[in-house]
Order: sequence, then structure tokens, then C-alpha cells
Amino acid sequence: EPAFITQTAAFVAELKGLSFEDIGRITARGAKELFGIGEAEGAKIAYSIRDSLYLNVTAKCTNRCVFCPKNRDSVVKGHDLSLRGGDPSAEELLKAVESEGGPARWSEVVFCGYGEPLTRLDAVLKVARELKKRGARRIRVNTDGLGNLYHGRDITGELAQVVDSISISLNAPTKEQYNLICRPSLDGAYESMLDFLAKCAKKIPEVTATAVAMEGVDIKACAEMARAAGAKFRSRPYNELG
Ligand code: SF4
Repeated sequence: EPAFITQTAAFVAELKGLSFEDIGRITARGAKELFGIGEAEGAKIAYSIRDSLYLNVTAKCTNRCVFCPKNRDSVVKGHDLSLRGGDPSAEELLKAVESEGGPARWSEVVFCGYGEPLTRLDAVLKVARELKKRGARRIRVNTDGLGNLYHGRDITGELAQVVDSISISLNAPTKEQYNLICRPSLDGAYESMLDFLAKCAKKIPEVTATAVAMEGVDIKACAEMARAAGAKFRSRPYNELG
């Protein structure tokens, strides 16, 4: 019954753990693209999901995960994340946060990307420091955990100065399976990711290892490894982002 559309949207939002606004944005973009009605919203540097504000720091990544959704589409939860103009500068990132109401409006600001944010460590640290000054309640980073390997030094101490929470992609309980799933571009990636996880767990208040629940991945073993490293664990549904 079309008259029940708002109630249906509210139910879907609850079912999917999203906000009513998220469902509105996702379905509006879907309808515009499917029926060719009006212009879909343009690409975004800062984008909201639920009450979190995400920052699209870069499209560059140190992995080529088999499940990576950017191989298929540039849209996440109704937001177009294609960085056609290249990676945003620190100033552009800060401006994008202000245009979404400023950092204090959100429960957290998350450095993410459609890539690996810590390949842009300087920009992440600079923006995170400034967001804290401007009243950010919580700073989180979503990472593949290869920051130390990429930069050739331990960056976890620098991160700990500005980051309240970090999510690290563990994705497999063995090096062999990790290499098949994440297809890292750097040698020694699995060992370095595990070391990064353990180092973060000693310095950053909230550390969560994650694994995408793909067929054949022993999620229980991943959870045990996370706990052994002193981190929390979260299994992420396959093909679900944000
Ligand atoms: S780490 Fe994230 S952005 Fe990079 S390839 Fe994997 S899923 Fe994609």
C-alpha cells in the first residue's frame, strides 16, 4: 500500500540498523537512477550514515580485496564516493566536515575512504587534531592495518594521540587465506597487520578487529586471534558496507 511508504521506510531502517534519513537517501538515489528522474547527488568527501560522519580520504589502497565493493560501484548507502578530482587536501576535508554541520554534530568522525586512509597519514593526523579542537566527540579510523608496513615505521604512537577508536581488517586466520582474500600489494602484509593490531591494542582506547563473513573463513578463529591481541572483534556481513 503506497500510503504506508513512511511506515515501511521506518521499518526497513530499523531492520537494517540505519536511520530513516539513510533509507530516504538510498531509495531516492535508486529511484532516480532506475527511472531517470532528476539528478542524483554528486560525489562526496564527507558523508553521513546513521549518526556517524565518514571522511572519504583516498581511493588508493594497499590491498585489492576480492570482496571490495569499489570494484563494482562507487556508491555506498546512497553516497557517491568517487574521488574524480583526486584525493582531498586536509583543508578540503575540514571544509567538508563543516558543510555537514561541524564535527560536534556527530557521534563520531570516521576516517575511511573508498581506499586506505592511512596511506595519507599526515592528512589524517592533521585533520583529526583540528577536529578534536573543534569539538569532535570521537575519532575513529577504519584501516587495513598495513600503515606500519606502508610507512616503514611504527605509526601507532602518532595515531594514539588523536584516535579514540580503530577498526582493523583481519579478514582471515591464516596468512595463506589472507593473501587469497586481501591480495596485498606489500610483502609481509599479514604479519605486519597482526603486529599493528597488537600495538594499537596497547595504545588506543578502542580497537576492533573485523572479518568479512565469507564462505570458508573461520570467523571463530578470527575472533580468538583478536581477543588474544587484546582487541574486540566484529564479523562483517559479506557485501554490506557502512
Ligand atoms: S582494504 Fe577496503 S578499500 Fe582496500 S581493497 Fe580491501 S575492501 Fe577495498
